[in-house]
Amino acid sequence: WWSGVQMGPPDAILGVTEAFKKDTNPKKINLGVGAYRDDNGKPYVLPSVQKAEEIMAKKALDKEYAPISGPSDFCKLSIQLALGDDCEELKAGANATVQGISGTGSLRVGCAFLASFFPGPKDLYLPSPSWGNHTPIGKHAGLNVKSYKYYDPKTCGLDFQGALDDIAKIPERSVILLHACAHNPTGVDPTPEQWQELSALIKKKNLFPFFDMAYQGFASGSVDRDAFAVRQFIKDGHQIALAQSYAKNMGLYGERAGAFSLITSSKEEADRTLSQLKILIRPMYSNPPIHGARVVTTILSTPELRAEWLRDVKQMADRIISVRSSLRNNLEKLGSKKNWQHITDQIGMFCFTGMNAEQSTRLSTDFSIYLTKDGRISMAGVTSKNVEYLAHGIHEVTK
Ligand code: PMP
Repeated sequence: WWSGVQMGPPDAILGVTEAFKKDTNPKKINLGVGAYRDDNGKPYVLPSVQKAEEIMAKKALDKEYAPISGPSDFCKLSIQLALGDDCEELKAGANATVQGISGTGSLRVGCAFLASFFPGPKDLYLPSPSWGNHTPIGKHAGLNVKSYKYYDPKTCGLDFQGALDDIAKIPERSVILLHACAHNPTGVDPTPEQWQELSALIKKKNLFPFFDMAYQGFASGSVDRDAFAVRQFIKDGHQIALAQSYAKNMGLYGERAGAFSLITSSKEEADRTLSQLKILIRPMYSNPPIHGARVVTTILSTPELRAEWLRDVKQMADRIISVRSSLRNNLEKLGSKKNWQHITDQIGMFCFTGMNAEQSTRLSTDFSIYLTKDGRISMAGVTSKNVEYLAHGIHEVTK
């Protein structure tokens, strides 16, 4: 049956981990994968998550199916976390929110909905570059994936003018994908003023904004600050689509908890769109996993746990911010002639170092430091113990 099936290429990021695992150098560092590590380089289960699971265990909950769209309290708490408690659209019930299979599944359901129902061209405009999975997610759902300028390799920062120029050229009524905060892979975000300008342009062009919010709280340490862009767009009168993930900010990677929402013009419109979202989900996976969603619901609905979680998120974000400074300081101490300001200007889990494919490969072969060929490093894998060695390696390959 399968003689015609060709071997596919390995996943770019998982391939990095494979190479890392095979390496016997005790100094080896894996900076490929985007999962938070503590200062000992170990996976981290948030204390607030552990407490939520203890509370859940005492309740001896059953294992019945969740509704197709996920539990309603999970959906409500999720969209409130994104848009804030005072959001008029939420008070009016104008949101259609479903639990998704983490951020990826939420994006996929969102794209499926757009492919079936979006009234404009079925084109999805991504920032260049964007998270590597955005293109296949959009294509798999049947959208035409296109791009707009975002990153400027000369400054390792935002190409704001390039973005404005490209967005101005996008045909009206197309879909534009925006990273709500902590842009992956570049770590480069617009400033609040730049977001306001983008919002005005996107409104003027009558584009439909689809926000991917995979790092709320993880960028600045504040869930409200990281939601600035999404909330600004709502304030400016946009109707939006939104994919949320609890993988990073609650460390629930493998639990696959996330949400997809449409903020529509009315409760009546929300009800109609929600009914179609459910019809799309039912034949795909029937209903979402329950454990992660219960953890999220327990945390967000228990005031003391919620406060503890906010402290946990801030602690993770702060550790990343501090290793960014430390990496930059170490490079400067080693006498690097290069400008490394972008390491501390960029935010979130990733740093787009500006190293090219050859330098990135040398870092792996000569120093056992593993990263993707685009020069992206996961700051979450950097610790107070390996930062000096990492700086040494980067300095050697960029001399
Ligand atoms: N969007 C972006 C930009 C991401 O970086 C990620 C995680 N790598 C996701 C979505 C989704 O991840 P998950 O499916 O694990 O929530």
